[in-house]
Amino acid sequence: MESFFSQKRTWANGPYLHFIAVLDDPAYVAFTQAHHDLLADYGDRVGIVPAPWLHWTAQGVHHQLAEDQVERAVRAAREAARQAAPATVTMGPVWPGPSAVTVAMYPEEPLAEINALVRNAVSTVPGVQLREAGDRYWPHSTLAYYRSPSVHDADFNRRLRNIRPQRAEITIRRLLAVYMHQDLNLGYYTWTPIAEIPLGVTAADAAAPEVVCGAPESTATYRSAPPWGDPDAEYEIEVGRLAVQPPLSDEQVRYESFVSRALDDSTYFDDGEPPLPKWPDPVTTACERPVGDGACGSTRLRVRGSWTRPAVIICEHGHSWTDTVETMREVILAAEPAQ
Ligand SMILES: [Zn+2]
Repeated sequence: MESFFSQKRTWANGPYLHFIAVLDDPAYVAFTQAHHDLLADYGDRVGIVPAPWLHWTAQGVHHQLAEDQVERAVRAAREAARQAAPATVTMGPVWPGPSAVTVAMYPEEPLAEINALVRNAVSTVPGVQLREAGDRYWPHSTLAYYRSPSVHDADFNRRLRNIRPQRAEITIRRLLAVYMHQDLNLGYYTWTPIAEIPLGVTAADAAAPEVVCGAPESTATYRSAPPWGDPDAEYEIEVGRLAVQPPLSDEQVRYESFVSRALDDSTYFDDGEPPLPKWPDPVTTACERPVGDGACGSTRLRVRGSWTRPAVIICEHGHSWTDTVETMREVILAAEPAQ
């Protein structure tokens, strides 16, 4: 019996670079939450991992790295992950361990392969020293960490095993390179994302050579339903160039309202037509992630989301950020395949 964040497990100089999969599948979240009533009885003696921080660690680096080493490690992992494939695994049952409640992940082989791929890639970066690999890679996800040695007794063990919720099947399609923080106050791990790493080459739904967002609305952008498929279906679309129309100036707003009033009232032209405003040029979206002394600057982007969820924009180097639902809709519309 022990508490998880013991002296030997506490990181001296974290946060550290880790490669994880975020396990936000609703079926797995529900599986973990089925144990929360029991865990809540133990108060602050356990650190229950909340839904946004559920993860599987594909590979961790347990020492500090310089920024350029992180960049190289992420690039190497991305390159290697092109050879990987998404992994479908079953989450559960839970294992009441000596310092944490972990969740089994089976089959282990595809996850062990991803671990080996990332491990080999990252170890090619000069100065990176990985912990020695065990005989057999142990894929798992942690549901709660013990913060006191007085949690894991026979009663706890029995009650935990009695819960037995339906196991969850999930598919892991991408890893996230993160700076992992050991949050000793919360009693679990949190992270700052660095880059996304797709497993395998993602097939774009369609090629969109250029997408201009925020342009004057056309009949297409008034659509309230997606052009094809289910509104919740997730798209991952390559965009040759993503251009955003800057917001209109006052002068342009006046011109817009002039045009609409003129359409309503044919005598309106008598007052004279206001001068044609200069429309602002669309601005090309470039990745602004700081790299070295400057910014990444990549304009080769992949956009992911659904008709109902915000766009996640990922540059060719895997840096990612979130944009609006409106942007996602415009990208989906622009990528609509010819019927
Ligand atoms: Zn970038």
